[in-house]
Amino acid sequence: MTSRFSVVKVGPPIEVFAVNKAYLDDTSDLKVNLSVGAYRTDEGKPWVLPVVRKTEKQLADDETLNHEYLPVLGLDACSSAATKMLLGADSSAFAQGRAFGVQTLSGTGALRVGAEFLLRQLKYTTFYYSSPTWGNYIAEQNLEPEGELELFQQNHHLLFTNAGFTEPRQYRYWNAETRSLDLDGFLEDLRAAPKDSVIILHACAHNPTGCDPTHEQWTQIADVIEERQLFPFFDSAYQGFASGDLEKDAWAVRYFADRGFELLCAQSFAKNFGLYNERVGNLTMVVKDVGDLLAVKSQLTLIVRGMYSNPPNHGGRIVATVLNNPQLLEEWKECVRTMANRVLDMRRGLKERLERLGTPGTWDHIVTQIGMFSYTGLSPRQVEHLTQKYHIYLLKSGRINMCGLTTKNIDYVAKAIHETVVEISENTINKL
Ligand code: PLP
Repeated sequence: MTSRFSVVKVGPPIEVFAVNKAYLDDTSDLKVNLSVGAYRTDEGKPWVLPVVRKTEKQLADDETLNHEYLPVLGLDACSSAATKMLLGADSSAFAQGRAFGVQTLSGTGALRVGAEFLLRQLKYTTFYYSSPTWGNYIAEQNLEPEGELELFQQNHHLLFTNAGFTEPRQYRYWNAETRSLDLDGFLEDLRAAPKDSVIILHACAHNPTGCDPTHEQWTQIADVIEERQLFPFFDSAYQGFASGDLEKDAWAVRYFADRGFELLCAQSFAKNFGLYNERVGNLTMVVKDVGDLLAVKSQLTLIVRGMYSNPPNHGGRIVATVLNNPQLLEEWKECVRTMANRVLDMRRGLKERLERLGTPGTWDHIVTQIGMFSYTGLSPRQVEHLTQKYHIYLLKSGRINMCGLTTKNIDYVAKAIHETVVEISENTINKL
């Protein structure tokens, strides 16, 4: 009898996991991992935030807690605190009861629940995501000889098409020549978008470019979204982590909400709480009319019920406990600042070293970009060289996680980048 599964074709590898595996398999003492999407300490270790550890101990000792199912839409104490953290304590949408949250399976789960809702209930079929966006699946066979990457799948694309959206489109975002935002291209693409297109916007610390619009640019983006009657769906995976300041990193979402937009926002607590594997997130929804809420919530309940029934407790309980306790909240904010400052230090350190070495090209973008990631401008061939000769692992797009740098390896990495850029100067935006 033949196997019915023989029709299944091997899918493309998920680059970030493949690179991480190659790093783990490398036996060299020199190896450096700049590929992962998670925070690392200056010792190169994962960090359990002290406030999280403390809260976990309290929860473990609390005999009033049990393992009963959570409600389908999650812990209200978690989702309302998360919504407030996003929109701000003085948000009129929150005060008027026009904003609420659904506790989800991290940021990815929030994006998926939101996409399912927009498709099923509002019948939206077209979505736009930034070029590039987070999570590239790269066709290895297309890397040579030209070093051209074919980005044939990106996470927003995968999530929304899996939810059933039929019209995936990209808007221009990154100008590789200037290593900055392509605002004109972005606005032009938005102007051409059909009414009711869902526009996925990175709330802050754009992944992978580390390049965010300025306040003035956000205003222009909002103008076009309003004029063209598009629907903004924010993806907020780095609130607090980007600048160290929760308020600053929420500026764009708050601006849209205060301006009267109806919107969705997927929040992740993976990075800013270091709760990667607990899968805790929140889907915030802002509506115009409180009268719509009953129906909206009932439909969201059916969507979640049909996907995973209800969310897990542990991460949500931690986030709820910390955000609702002023003392713990302050301790958490301090942790967030520690993480953000370490990233900023590494950015400055790398830029200074490259400039001191006289590395061809300009390196200002390393400090002007924000968040954990930097689009270095290194070409695929240079990336390959860094890996093969120096055991430095990064994504083919040249994206590095600044947290992979430490005070111990930063000199080595800077020197390796310098030698690589000098040796392989063709096909790179950083060439002289
Ligand atoms: N959105 C962006 C832009 C991200 O970078 C990430 C994680 O890297 C996420 C969403 C969601 O991550 P998670 O599902 O782990 O919360």
